[in-house]
Amino acid sequence: MASPHDAAARPRGRPAPARWLVAVILCATLLTMAPPASAALLSQDEEIRIGRQAAAEIEAEVGLVRDPALVARVVTAGRRIAAVSDRRNLPYAFKVLRGREVNALSLPGGFIYATEGLLRFVQSDDELAFVMAHEVGHVAARHHVTILERHFALALLARLLTGGDPSASQIADIARFFVTRGFSREFEFEADRRGVTYAHRAGYDAAAGLVFMQRLRAAEGRDPSQFEVLFRTHPGLVDRMQRVREHLRRLGYRIAARLFEARVSPPVLH
Ligand SMILES: [Zn+2]
Repeated sequence: MASPHDAAARPRGRPAPARWLVAVILCATLLTMAPPASAALLSQDEEIRIGRQAAAEIEAEVGLVRDPALVARVVTAGRRIAAVSDRRNLPYAFKVLRGREVNALSLPGGFIYATEGLLRFVQSDDELAFVMAHEVGHVAARHHVTILERHFALALLARLLTGGDPSASQIADIARFFVTRGFSREFEFEADRRGVTYAHRAGYDAAAGLVFMQRLRAAEGRDPSQFEVLFRTHPGLVDRMQRVREHLRRLGYRIAARLFEARVSPPVLH
């Protein structure tokens, strides 16, 4: 948006500097690119590089849990899911972040986190696998790339012009975006659909995803602070449950019978 300040600063009666002009043309190109052309702007290697830098930022800020049993649980489920996903050639990394919020997070390039709170909340590895599959689903659908191109076009433009990486403050902005703002409802529906599919393909009980959502919804009222981040970044749980239920039925699950099945067995550690 132009401001009076911009108009006053514009040089009069002479051509704009070439570098400035190149920036404007590139910027216009970025902003008018149709979605199918988006992959051309950010290569997979660049997506991974940005994701790795954002991951380092979040890990330094929030802190990692090193407990080998907890980490092994997340890595085992994550790797099984990634191996059957629609983007199997990424350097996926599955880690545990500190914090009592029940949440999971994914970054460009396949850097995926579960929180300690999530690991305490899930009642089975099938539930954990669904959450990891949902996050892998975001990565496989290139939702992060779309966000980067929509919201960080200027940071990416700077990278294109200089041939370098986004600055530290731009990486911090990107990391903050994925932690606090998350995705649109449509992207959440898509990640759920892929999550159910991948969990099923990997041999997990994909219906556990629906049980997980139902328990989340029931628990939300008991201790809202515990779910703060998850509900800010994963809106519309009731609509999502409806769609997950339909997708499970298409895969042959008999939901009505399974949904209320008691799940009291302790989590199995692999
Ligand atoms: Zn999501």
